[in-house]
Amino acid sequence: MAVPQRRTSKTRKRKRRTHIKLNVPGMAVCQNCGELTLSHRVCKVCGHYGGKEVVVATSSEESLEE
Ligand SMILES: [Zn+2]
Repeated sequence: MAVPQRRTSKTRKRKRRTHIKLNVPGMAVCQNCGELTLSHRVCKVCGHYGGKEVVVATSSEESLEE
């Protein structure tokens, strides 16, 4: 069984952790509003998916037609 020859030093450990992943996997930026959303899901903020409005957003009560 392979055993590490040296204990990882504090410096080496900290250096390794300087470039951790900042974005959560499975999250994507909405192409319409730029908000972080789950990928392959309709955006909760604006209701867009694939560049089109699929669901009318329920958060804003006023209509944009006038
Ligand atoms: Zn959006």
